[in-house]
Amino acid sequence: MYQLNEKIRNLKPYDPISGEYAIRLDANESFFGLPEDLRTEFSHIASELVLNRYPDPLSTQVCQAFADYYQVPVENVTAGNGSDELISIICTSFLEKGDTFLTLEPDFSMYRFYGVIAEGVPVTMQKPESLCVDVDEVIRVCREKDVKLLIFSNPCNPTSLGLCREELRRLITSVEALVVLDEAYMDFWNQSLLPEFDQYDNLLILRTCSKAFGGAALRLGFAVGSLALTNALKAVKSPYNLNSFTQAAGAAILRRKEESQAAIKEILQSKEELLAGMKELAGRFSQQIKVFESNTNFVFVETPAYEQIFRYLLDAGIAVRKFTGYLRITAGTHEENQALLKAMEGFFVAENQEGK
Ligand SMILES: *Cc1c(COP(=O)(O)O)cnc(C)c1O
Repeated sequence: MYQLNEKIRNLKPYDPISGEYAIRLDANESFFGLPEDLRTEFSHIASELVLNRYPDPLSTQVCQAFADYYQVPVENVTAGNGSDELISIICTSFLEKGDTFLTLEPDFSMYRFYGVIAEGVPVTMQKPESLCVDVDEVIRVCREKDVKLLIFSNPCNPTSLGLCREELRRLITSVEALVVLDEAYMDFWNQSLLPEFDQYDNLLILRTCSKAFGGAALRLGFAVGSLALTNALKAVKSPYNLNSFTQAAGAAILRRKEESQAAIKEILQSKEELLAGMKELAGRFSQQIKVFESNTNFVFVETPAYEQIFRYLLDAGIAVRKFTGYLRITAGTHEENQALLKAMEGFFVAENQEGK
């Protein structure tokens, strides 16, 4: 009888919200579809693909488009099948069995998952009530626990809060660990360390096309770091990790910098609208909901009624992301935001009447 080993025995496949919901505000995707002319370019790309040959193992063209967009040298860029693949590769290759790795909770759940699969030993730092990260504490724990890899998102998914550059510099230069700085949402904020990545020999920065660029289904992410780190990453990744279509289509998206930046501006306006509406609700129902500041395309709220609100919204055809004690809501179109806010208001009004 074949026995699954212990580390995978009880795992379940990743199951985001399944079912059909008219309004999807649960996965931090862009609400923009692709513009018509980009679709036309994609059809052209698809018709020209040489599918009987392996793709470019180093994804040169799309790495160059990324390098041009962010003004970094192409030699320091590695492309991955989503940044998820890069996180997985980094954990399995930069960690040795038994090495400690540090995550800050709450944060993106895949860090801990991949670290444990890699047989690293997880150390978790719980964020305080404010959900702000105490950099001195992180440094202290890194030293005390001999942490080999520190990984976190900045700005953070799900809290939407972030550390500014000055704090990041202090953190990176004060620890021996490899620091994996996941900037999946940094297109919505202005504290990126990309312009100075080459000043650190223990820093890998991750970016993705899944959020700001509206390319979640393409599966395209990037890592930027020193030549030593980049060369190691390129050597350990699977040779043909990015298919030809993603390479060409990703390059096409990244070459349209003005369009992307216009879309990002609109997404941020939508986020401001959602945030303002949520703060207005929090003012009226202050016992039931608290809203955090946002540096991303989503809004994070604390509420004891997270379970009931989550269900109530699903019944109204609106999917958001639920955490114990919190809800994370992605900015949608104006209509989607209004529908969400109206439903939340409906919930609180009904709740308060019942309580009387
Ligand atoms: C969405 C997300 C990713 C995953 O990006 P992919 O490129 O789609 O794999 C990585 N990190 C964080 C923090 C995210 O929220």
